[in-house]
Amino acid sequence: MNPKIWLSSPHMGGNEQRYIDEAFKSNWIAPLGPNVTGFEADIESYLGQNSHATAVSSGTAALHLGLMLLNVGPEDEVICQSKTFAASANPITYLGASPIFVDSETETWNLSPELLEEAIKDRIAKGKRPKAIVTVHLYGMPYMVNEIHGIASRYEIPIIEDSAEALGSSYQNQKCGTFGTISILSFNGNKIITTSGGGALISKTPSLNEKALFLATQARDNTPEYHHTSIGYNYRMSNVLAGIGRGQMEVLEERIALRRSNYHLYHSALKGINQLSFLEEPTSYLSNRWLTCFLTDSEATREGLRMYLAEQNIESRPLWKPMHLQPVYQKCPAYINGVSEDLFKRGLCIPSGSNLTENELNRVILAIKMYFRV
Ligand SMILES: *Cc1c(COP(=O)(O)O)cnc(C)c1O
Repeated sequence: MNPKIWLSSPHMGGNEQRYIDEAFKSNWIAPLGPNVTGFEADIESYLGQNSHATAVSSGTAALHLGLMLLNVGPEDEVICQSKTFAASANPITYLGASPIFVDSETETWNLSPELLEEAIKDRIAKGKRPKAIVTVHLYGMPYMVNEIHGIASRYEIPIIEDSAEALGSSYQNQKCGTFGTISILSFNGNKIITTSGGGALISKTPSLNEKALFLATQARDNTPEYHHTSIGYNYRMSNVLAGIGRGQMEVLEERIALRRSNYHLYHSALKGINQLSFLEEPTSYLSNRWLTCFLTDSEATREGLRMYLAEQNIESRPLWKPMHLQPVYQKCPAYINGVSEDLFKRGLCIPSGSNLTENELNRVILAIKMYFRV
């Protein structure tokens, strides 16, 4: 049996170990320290736009903090893209608020502007203005930023931009992670760069980052004794893991280039197969191509191909199952047009890591061609 080809595995650059060694030598084995500060500065200078970054233990933690900063609480409704990973929606539930799911459009697979506006109007008509909107750049493809943010600002609803999959993507030359009132990044092991586990909360308002930091470090009031006037969390990133992040930031541009070149290689090798269609970048959209995905012509083809690849020891995965179809969220209000469900049925993600060898990429291409007998 050929060795396993993974969907997306960690890819170290070389200097991560040096930053970790520094943490050990200086005994900064703590949830704060020079690597955390350095990593935050690296993220800020990469994103530009006057961004302020707070490094935390995960992307999910950053979303949870972000919703708290927007005062989301019990009784509130928060709109969330239905087609996403559950971590986009779960923190809404942690706070006792109700997620309202909205379906996708076909051009970027993200939030449909028409349906978003319809949902907002309907919620307002039912007596409740949504407290926030969680938007997602799925698989690294930016959502329709102008349209979505235009609607959100018309109804004066803040956006939490879930950029967990889109570090390095941009829309009209502005980086993803800089569009929301609050934005979040993830450095989980499968993302474009990783700290083994980690995330960041990004805003342009330093007081929001200060409040995030306060909540992420157990909400200790500024007194010598341990005095608490709010409930805190233990969400800060460790200085050891931030060292991995600093090394990874040095190679981020290379990682984006490699993921994009994987996409282009797959696209040019497989575009002749008429049962497959790829998600192309609309003009002025740049995707980091975190995962290369395509649609097949039917659920049966998708499943057949997935099983065939698994037999060849090649990992592949259906596109995210929409939240409105998840048992835990089935009862939530949802504004649906069928797009996310169709994408879920027909779509497949294929191995996309920046550390795939030419030989591995060719094995994937050959296996797909074999399946379609071309
Ligand atoms: C990975 C991911 C998250 C969560 O990030 P973690 O760091 O794993 O907690 C949130 N949203 C999306 C869209 C993701 O892909």
